[in-house]
Amino acid sequence: MSFTHLPTSRADWQALAASLEFETRAFVDDQFVDALSGETFATVNPATGENLAEVASCDTADAEMAVAVARAAFERGEWSRLAPGKRKLVMLKLADLMDAHKSELALLDTLDMGKPIGSSLGDLSGGIGCMRYQAESIDKLYGEVAPTGEDNLALVLREPLGVVASIVPWNFPLMMTAWKISPALAAGNSVILKPSEKSPLSALLLAKLAREAGIPRGVFQVLPGFGHTVGKALALSMGVDCLAFTGSTGVGKQLMQYAGQSNLKRLYLECGGKSPNIVFADCKDLDSVARHAAEAIFHNQGEVCIAGSRLLVEDSIRGAFVDKVLSAAKSMQPGDPLDPDSFMGAIVDEAQHGRILDYIRRGAEEGATLRAGGQADDADSKGLFIPPTVFDGVTSTMTIGREEIFGPVLAIFGFDSEEEAVALANDSDFGLAAGLWSQDIDRIMRVTRRLESGQVFVNNWAGGDQSVPFGGVKQSGNGRDKSHHSLEEYSSLKSVWISLTL
Ligand code: NAD
Repeated sequence: MSFTHLPTSRADWQALAASLEFETRAFVDDQFVDALSGETFATVNPATGENLAEVASCDTADAEMAVAVARAAFERGEWSRLAPGKRKLVMLKLADLMDAHKSELALLDTLDMGKPIGSSLGDLSGGIGCMRYQAESIDKLYGEVAPTGEDNLALVLREPLGVVASIVPWNFPLMMTAWKISPALAAGNSVILKPSEKSPLSALLLAKLAREAGIPRGVFQVLPGFGHTVGKALALSMGVDCLAFTGSTGVGKQLMQYAGQSNLKRLYLECGGKSPNIVFADCKDLDSVARHAAEAIFHNQGEVCIAGSRLLVEDSIRGAFVDKVLSAAKSMQPGDPLDPDSFMGAIVDEAQHGRILDYIRRGAEEGATLRAGGQADDADSKGLFIPPTVFDGVTSTMTIGREEIFGPVLAIFGFDSEEEAVALANDSDFGLAAGLWSQDIDRIMRVTRRLESGQVFVNNWAGGDQSVPFGGVKQSGNGRDKSHHSLEEYSSLKSVWISLTL
C-alpha cells in the first residue's frame, strides 16, 4: 500500500496507522520468509502498549544461510561487478521509492519506537538524501596512478569488501540504516541488515522497495531478531568481511572481541556519547541559545547519540541562563507521537523507561539539584512518557554526569574559565559531539581544537549535511558515516605493480 498524500493532522495519521499492513518476515535471497526456527518476537507501540506485530526471530541458522546467499551474490557479480554508473541508477530508483512511500516508512518508525511523526519524516528525508548522495558519488570516484619511475606503472584500485553486515539501533531506525547500507551498496558489496529488535518494521518495508528498485537477488537481505542471537552470529561469522555497527559502547566492545575470535573482519563502530555543550557568557542572544540547548537534549526524547546531555554554563550567567533553559524545556512536554505538533514522544520500551527513571533517582541521591521533570508522565497510563528533566549543580563524579542516559535528562555544570570548560568537556570516556556558543572567534578556534570530539558544533547544535562525515573518537567509536569518507569504510585498496621493462 502506498499513500498518495502526506497526512497533516493527527487524525489522518491515526487513520493511516489503522490501515497499515506490516511485513513481519525476514528477507533472504529475494524472498520474505519465516525464521528457520519458526520463532517470532513481539514488537510493541510504546505510546499505547499495543502489540503491533509478531516478527520473525532470526538466529544462527538464518545468519549462516543469509551469509552464503550474500557471498554467492557477490561472486556472481551482478552487483559487485556492475558498472558504478548502473549501480547508481538502481539506488536512485530505491531513493525515489522511499520518497514515494515516505508516509508508511515514517509511520512504521513512529509506531515501533515512539518518536514524533514529524521527527520520523525528518529522519527519513535524511536517509533518502544519504541514499542519493552515495549513489551519485560512486561513479565519480577515480582510482590512482602512483608516482613511480617510468619503468613501472602502479595502479591503486578501490574494490568492494564482499559481505557487509550492518547492525543498527532503534533510535533512528531508517536513517541509521540508510547511513550504513547506502555507501556499502554503492561500493558494490552484498549487505545483510540486522535492525534492532525494538524497531524492525521499516527495514522490512525497505527490503520490499529494494527488490522493486532492482537490487539483485541476495545483494540486500534483512534479518530481524535479537542481538545476542542473530547479531552475534553475524559478528562471529567467518563469511562476513565487514561489520558496520551503530549502537552502544558496551556492545561495540563485544563486537571487537567477536571480530578477533573469528576472521578479523573489518569493524566499523559508531557508539554512544555524553556530549558537552559549552555556553560562554559572551553569547549575543541567550534566549535563543537556551532554546537550542534544550532542543539539543530533548529532541527525540533524548534518545540521540549526539544529545547535548552535558550543558556547561559559565558561572557569571548561570542562574539567569538556567532559568531560560527551564522555560524552554517547559514548552517541550511529550505528546502523542502521531500528533504532528508533538516535539517529544514516547520512550522506546519499558526497559529503557525504567533505566532513565533509575538514573534520575541516582542524580537526586548523589546530590544534583532537580529543577524540572523527574517523574514518569502518567497522563496516559499505557504509554511510556518522561517529561524534560533538568539537573543543575552536576559534577563529573556523579553518575548522571558521566554515563550515557539516552533519555530526556539534562545535566548542567558550572565553570569559571575557558580552561575549566575544556577540562570538563574532555573529562569523559566518550568523544562523539561537542558544542560551543560564543561570539569570540579566537576563543572558538582555541576551544574547538582542544575538544576531544568527532564533531564540534559552533553556535548551533547537530548541524551538518551529507557531504560532512559523522562519527566519534575515544569510546564513541572509530568509523565515519556520510560523505565520501564512508565509502572508504566499505572498500579496500588493491595496489597493482606493473613492470614495463619485460
Ligand atoms: P545496542 O548496542 O543495545 O543495540 C544496537 C544493535 O546491536 C541492535 O540491533 C542490537 O540487537 C544489536 N546487538 C546487541 N547485542 C549484540 C551482540 N551481542 N552481538 C551483536 N549485535 C548485538 O544499542 P541500542 O540500545 O539499540 O541503541 C542505543 C545506542 O546506540 C546508544 O548508545 C547510542 O548512543 C548509540 N547510537 C550511536 C550512534 C552514532 O552514530 N554514534 C547513532 C545512534 C545510536
